[in-house]
Amino acid sequence: MDEFAVVINAGSSSLKFSVFRRQESRPWHLEARGQIEGIGTRPQFSAKNEAGESIADRELGDSVKDGRSALDYVAGWLRERHGGARVRGVGHRIVHGGAKYAGPTIVTPQVLDDLRKLIPLAPLHQPYNLAAIDAVSERLPDVPQVACFDTSFHRGQPAVAELVPLPADIRSGGVQRYGFHGLSYEYIASVLPSVAPEIAGGRVIVAHLGSGASMCAIKNGKSVDSTLGFTALDGLCMGTRPGAVDPGVILHLFQGLGLSAKDVESILYKKSGLLGISGISNDMRVLLASGEPAARLAVDYFVYQAAKEVGALAAVLGGVDALVFTAGIGENSPEIRKRICAASAWLGIELDEAANAQRGPRISSATSRVSAWVIPTNEELMIARHTGTLLGLIAARA
Ligand code: ADP
Repeated sequence: MDEFAVVINAGSSSLKFSVFRRQESRPWHLEARGQIEGIGTRPQFSAKNEAGESIADRELGDSVKDGRSALDYVAGWLRERHGGARVRGVGHRIVHGGAKYAGPTIVTPQVLDDLRKLIPLAPLHQPYNLAAIDAVSERLPDVPQVACFDTSFHRGQPAVAELVPLPADIRSGGVQRYGFHGLSYEYIASVLPSVAPEIAGGRVIVAHLGSGASMCAIKNGKSVDSTLGFTALDGLCMGTRPGAVDPGVILHLFQGLGLSAKDVESILYKKSGLLGISGISNDMRVLLASGEPAARLAVDYFVYQAAKEVGALAAVLGGVDALVFTAGIGENSPEIRKRICAASAWLGIELDEAANAQRGPRISSATSRVSAWVIPTNEELMIARHTGTLLGLIAARA
């Protein structure tokens, strides 16, 4: 009988999934990937087959109103297509693994307990990630599940990169810099030897620019620093999150404006960044197309902050060999790549305009001292690899 493995990336308003299939004694292959977007507003289901052709695209209406009903819908869709299939394992993206989980792990009640304690550190993601594990446990109690963390790739950074310089009694409660988007960075690091072998062993800054955005300094395939820290609020300007702000501003929100913790959380996670600056949208496409001065300012700030962090990470690395763009904005916006590269020209980055328009993978000129690249990320594939390795479904990678 054919065997299946499923990867789930459950967010607050979207549920992404991938299905991998193995026919007897053949290797695993991607069977389908899909998502429900707009959970809580206008849920839309879409799926593609291995060749990237659309196999489903429909509005879902009121029946899908939260993460649980979204998962029910996907389970029903999978049952219809592959009824009676043997599911060998389910891999999950979990945003926070804390200091303890430096690698993927098989889910047990103890692991779940540990991960629930981290909910306050990632209120926008962790509860939804864990709810997906619970939902799968109820439906498929005998199927092993694997938790893959966005923080793991960053463990092992130098002590100074992980430090939050507050008193020891506060730090001992787990207040440190964790870093996020680790599955994306790990995937990019894993493909560098084949896509860009000349930089794989070097000093690379990867810019994961999506609705959440960060950068990671990678040396010889390992993370040495990243712009996201204790939570997913630090560093770059994001769709609805501000990135780095003077902590005194947060004190002002509480003490000066008398806002509640809930209000402040909502401002920091949902109302700031590109949306807060522009007052128009959190979507870079909309802002780039807009002639409004506030939209221009939002894009200018996004680029300014990105270029500033490139400089900071170049200092951390002691020089830089390459800049890699990935995720929604990084992969799809030649304009933003061009502007960040122009602002980083002092480092020796020289763009090849034609290659940039065509998405590379190499987008710097032949004479550029520092090369620039576009490499599409694939967090789900990274999770599938970990799940397969941990459950013994595929041979461990060297
Ligand atoms: P996440 O996985 O963090 O939700 P993605 O990596 O999918 O986000 O990135 C989503 C963002 O990418 C959108 O909010 C949009 O701003 C941006 N984006 C997608 N396509 C383009 C494009 N062609 N030009 C500019 N920005 C784009």
